[in-house]
Amino acid sequence: MYAISHHTQSFINLIIINHSSSILHSPIEYLKGVGPLRADMLKKELGIFIFFDLLNHFPNRHVDKTKISFIKDITPQTEFIQVAGRLLFYEVIGEKRSKRLIAQLKDETGILELTWFQGINWIQKSLHEGSDYLVFGRTGIFNGKPQIVHPEIEVFVPAKAEGKTFLEPIYPTTEKLKAKGLNGRQMAKLTFSLLSQIQPKDIEENLPDELTLKHALIKRYAAYKAIHFPQSLNEFDAAVKRLKFEELFISQIRLNLVRLQRHQSSRGVLFEKVGDYFNNFYNQHLPFQLTNAQKRVIKEIRIDTARGHQMNRLLQGDVGSGKTIVALLAMLLAADNGYQSCLMAPTEILAQQHFNGLTELLKDMPIEIALLTGSTKLAERKKILQGLMADTIHFVVGTHAVIEEVVQFKNLGLAIVDEQHRFGVAQRAKLWQKATIPPHILVMTATPIPRTLAMTAYGDLDYSVMDELPPGRQAITTVHRYETARAKVMDFAKTEIEKGRQVYFIYPLIEESEKLSYEDLMQGYEQVKSFFPEPVYKISMVHGRMPSNQKELNMQRFVNGNTQIMVSTTVIEVGVNVPNATVMIIESAEKFGLSQLHQLRGRVGRSSEKSFCILLTSSKISNDARERINIMCSTNDGFKIAEKDLMLRGPGDIEGTRQSGALNFRIANIVNDKPLLELAKYEAEKILTEDKELSMAKNLQLKKYLQLQKGTTAWSKIS
Ligand code: ADP
Ligand code: MG
Repeated sequence: MYAISHHTQSFINLIIINHSSSILHSPIEYLKGVGPLRADMLKKELGIFIFFDLLNHFPNRHVDKTKISFIKDITPQTEFIQVAGRLLFYEVIGEKRSKRLIAQLKDETGILELTWFQGINWIQKSLHEGSDYLVFGRTGIFNGKPQIVHPEIEVFVPAKAEGKTFLEPIYPTTEKLKAKGLNGRQMAKLTFSLLSQIQPKDIEENLPDELTLKHALIKRYAAYKAIHFPQSLNEFDAAVKRLKFEELFISQIRLNLVRLQRHQSSRGVLFEKVGDYFNNFYNQHLPFQLTNAQKRVIKEIRIDTARGHQMNRLLQGDVGSGKTIVALLAMLLAADNGYQSCLMAPTEILAQQHFNGLTELLKDMPIEIALLTGSTKLAERKKILQGLMADTIHFVVGTHAVIEEVVQFKNLGLAIVDEQHRFGVAQRAKLWQKATIPPHILVMTATPIPRTLAMTAYGDLDYSVMDELPPGRQAITTVHRYETARAKVMDFAKTEIEKGRQVYFIYPLIEESEKLSYEDLMQGYEQVKSFFPEPVYKISMVHGRMPSNQKELNMQRFVNGNTQIMVSTTVIEVGVNVPNATVMIIESAEKFGLSQLHQLRGRVGRSSEKSFCILLTSSKISNDARERINIMCSTNDGFKIAEKDLMLRGPGDIEGTRQSGALNFRIANIVNDKPLLELAKYEAEKILTEDKELSMAKNLQLKKYLQLQKGTTAWSKIS
């Protein structure tokens, strides 16, 4: 009995050792045709360290080798072409930087000029006048003659017409690699020879069979073969689908495992009951009916904080969806369980506003709340620090000042971060050190994150969405006007002010120069003043150079309705809540990004009054800017806007995700492969719900793959 199990054990070990020393993990220099020099280049230029990396270097297209065009057919519109012909002659001309190799290729219909600026010596050696070559590349017309610069070239061997197409992979490569003889076609040869050496057991299936069957996915080994050397375009498509799904699915499994693990093993403060603070506020002081979305999120927080594990939740709600009240209810829940809370905002204006708002809401409640920012006076600050240590203060609202080391809590149980994209990861980490058991963390953001991005970049967090606005809101009307129509725009603002409403004028921050931004704003201020003269009209102004007490004063006058107009840079962008303001005029709107425009627009439309957003631009704007503006005029839906933003800019550019390894997909693309991502997420969650440990027989090949992957990915990066 023992002997058998012992035997089985070592048998399993053997398989694993066997696998990790499988041919695919061999260093790339051991591949025939590579050698130390080329291996070095492959590592440096393409990150190819082992055989398997080469298999994961996918072609960016295939050419049909049987399809050969005529030189006479090259027109200025032609992009890529493949021709076959005889090499008439070649020569090296020019000196130093203009040194180049030119050659002429002739077919029955004309002459094509070929030019190389790099790798001249090597290419020269491979060319023979009078021989036939197959040439592929991007065409151009130079001095009226067709030419290809840096073509791919090889000795022409007529392809046998067997009635089926022959698709040859073309790989992305670099000039340096080409100079070492590794052009796209050479890469194809290497890959072909590698594929001929491996067998199905070398690329073991990692998806559960149930999944591949259900979604008609081809097997992993077949996919690796077909993505490089497909027999048909259909086969190629099937390979791409399989490998994209695998990539997305494995990443979803990983993210979910991280999340599940945190749920199981992290220690967290236990909020076991809902008590008087929460109930009294809810029943007696809540100024409005909660939306269903608000109720749902509060329930999610309630469940999450009652498990004894740390909550790490991202709450996403479009501008105006009412996140503040959710934050307050969560803080009351903490208080019910004897814990303190902090709420942090990215700016002083916002912290002050939260403090004022919460103080008003809590005025009949026995809750102590304090405001702590950079400009809190020393004596006041001392009092607050003592109050936090003595646990006489329940809630502290503030800016970064709250996470300074001197700020110590008696028992911090909940930390809420409003508008997270302004708070760095390191700053958030400081929060954890403020209590022996890390506090629950709720991160709130109104920067809509497209679903696909949330699923990948934040897939390891718990995630709540408020996709509903409080009732009675009217859609904001957004229009685009050229500067030439400024007088009319001002007249419109005037009629709104006469109705008792308030108006924002926003000027862009000019990134290169704070000084320029400042001058821009001042000019704008003078202009606004000339349209809206004192004393009939009163204007607030807020900008980054202003001392914070002055900012605060100006802001407060606008909040209280003492001024009708707010002139500001984008410092106003986030979170500010003045429901009576119904007109947002954005100057030089072409200079703003989509999500920023959406944030700014969110400052109006915060009451039941009809609101307007006017995007002013110069008469000449780029196509990109025009598209952004058209999107803004056509929808108020932050999630739609975020999706468009993602499409326009690509995932790498979205704030906060740049460093996120979660987005480094080899083949999948979260913009184009959204349906596949949804499917992968669904299947990953389904499997983990049923089998958290992946111990069921049908999931073993997946588990084995995940375990082996841990070691090999790092290994392959060590040269
Ligand atoms: P945001 O999600 O942008 O932070 P806020 O919390 O500032 O939104 O709320 C926006 C406005 O909507 C505030 O004036 C707030 O009092 C109001 N509000 C929030 N929830 C509701 C609700 N359920 N019904 C009516 N008004 C609400
Ligand atoms: Mg807010």
